[in-house]
Amino acid sequence: MSTAPEPGVLAGLEAWRDLPRRHQPTWPDDEALGRVGTELASLPPLVFAGEADVLTARLGAAGRGEAFLLQGGDCAETFAEATADNIRNKIKTILQMAVVLTYGGSLPVIKMGRMAGQYAKPRSSDEETRDGVTLPAYRGDAVNAYDFTSDCRVPDPRRLVEAYHRSAATLNLIRAFTTGGFADLRRVHEWNRGFTANPAYARYEEVAGEIDRAMRFMAACGADFDALRTVEFFASHEALLLDYERPLTRIDSRTGTAYDCSAHFLWIGERTRQIDGAHVDFLSRVRNPVGVKLGPTTTADDALALMDKLNPNDVPGRLTFITRMGAGRIRETLPPLLEKVTASGRPVTWVCDPMHGNTITSASGFKTRRFDDVLDEVRGFFEAHRSVGSVPAGLHVELTGDDVTEVLGGSEAIDDDGLARRYETLVDPRLNHQQSLEMAFLVAEMIRS
Ligand code: PEP
Ligand code: MN
Repeated sequence: MSTAPEPGVLAGLEAWRDLPRRHQPTWPDDEALGRVGTELASLPPLVFAGEADVLTARLGAAGRGEAFLLQGGDCAETFAEATADNIRNKIKTILQMAVVLTYGGSLPVIKMGRMAGQYAKPRSSDEETRDGVTLPAYRGDAVNAYDFTSDCRVPDPRRLVEAYHRSAATLNLIRAFTTGGFADLRRVHEWNRGFTANPAYARYEEVAGEIDRAMRFMAACGADFDALRTVEFFASHEALLLDYERPLTRIDSRTGTAYDCSAHFLWIGERTRQIDGAHVDFLSRVRNPVGVKLGPTTTADDALALMDKLNPNDVPGRLTFITRMGAGRIRETLPPLLEKVTASGRPVTWVCDPMHGNTITSASGFKTRRFDDVLDEVRGFFEAHRSVGSVPAGLHVELTGDDVTEVLGGSEAIDDDGLARRYETLVDPRLNHQQSLEMAFLVAEMIRS
C-alpha cells in the first residue's frame, strides 16, 4: 500500500521554478520540454529510496572516521562512451583503488561512481566562438551534442529522455558487475598485482605485497564470505538540470517523503550553490544524501548556512562538503572552514576533490592538470584535517579506466607533447587507469602515515 505524500511536499518540489537558477539551458520549445517532463515522470525510478538511506548511513560513518568514500568517474559521461568496455574499465579502476585504500586506512571504502547520469555541465560561457562562428556552448550530452554545428549545439529536450535510458543501461551493468562475480576481491587483487609488476610502479610493491599476505592469510583461514564476492556500488551525478531531476523525484511509499531517484547521491556544483538559489532549494526537499562543492572563496558562514538549509535536523551522512580549493590555497582556505564547522558540533562528511582547483592550460593549449598538484591538494587536505581534529572522509576524482593522456605527470611522466596522444575528454582532464591506481597507492601511504 502506498503512503500519501506528507502535506506540502509536492508543492515544495515546485518552489525552485520561481528561484534564480544558473547554468540552465535555454530550451527552444517549452511545449516539447513539458512533454519530456511528463514522459520522464512516467518512467520507473533508477534507484530506490531504501538504497539512498543505506548510503546516508554509510556516509555518516565516513563522517565519523569509520569509513572512507571513493567517488570517481568522468567529468562528463557521453552517450557514445556508455559502452560495456568503458563501464567495465571504470568500475575495475574504482574497485582496484578501493582495495588499496581499504588496506591503507583499515576502513571500509564506500564505492561511488560519477556514473549513470553525469551528463550535464555548467560552463563558464554560454557561447563558444570558432573561426568567427558563435554557437551555444556544449552543456553535456543531456542537453546538446559536442559537434560544432548549430543542429548539434541547440539544446534538445529529447536528450533528457536519452540520458535517462543510458543511465538505466549503465546502472544495470554496474549492478551486474558488482554482484555477479566480477568484483570478487581476490580477482581485484590479482589486477593490482599486474599493476605493480610493471617496473614503473615498483615502489608500490611493498604495499601490494602486504595486501597479498593479508589475502593469503584470509584464504588459509578458510575465509569465504559474501563480502569477498560482491560490493555495494552507488551512482552519483551533479544535480544540475532541474528539468531532469524534478520528474525523477518520487514520493517514497514507506514514508510519504520525496527522493530524487535519478541517483543515490546528488551534488550541487560550486557554481550553483547560492543559498537562495533553485538548486539548494530543490535538494533541500529530497531525502537522498547530498553534496555541495566548496571552492576557495567559501566562507564559514556560507558553509553554516548550507548546513541549516540542507541538513536542519543534523542527520549524519545527509550532507557532504566536497572541498576543491586548489593545491596552492588549501592549506590557508580549508582550516578556518573546518574550525568553524567543527565548533558547531554538527555532522558534515568532508571529502576532497583535488581536481577542480588545479586546472591549467598547457603550453600546447590543452586543458590539463598536474598529477603532482592533484596529489599535493590531497596531502593538504589530510594536513588541514589533522591540524583541526576533523575527519578527512573521502576522495572525489575525475578518472577513466582507459589509457588516455589528459593529466600531466605520474610515473609514466606524461608531458605536454604526450597530451596530444590520447586526449579524449570533452570537458575536464581525467586521471587515466595507471594514474588512478598510483594515486590510490600514494593516498594509502598518506592515510597510514
Ligand atoms: C565537476 O565536478 O565537473 C565540476 C564542474 O566541479 P565544480 O562544481 O567543483 O566546479
Ligand atoms: Mn569536471
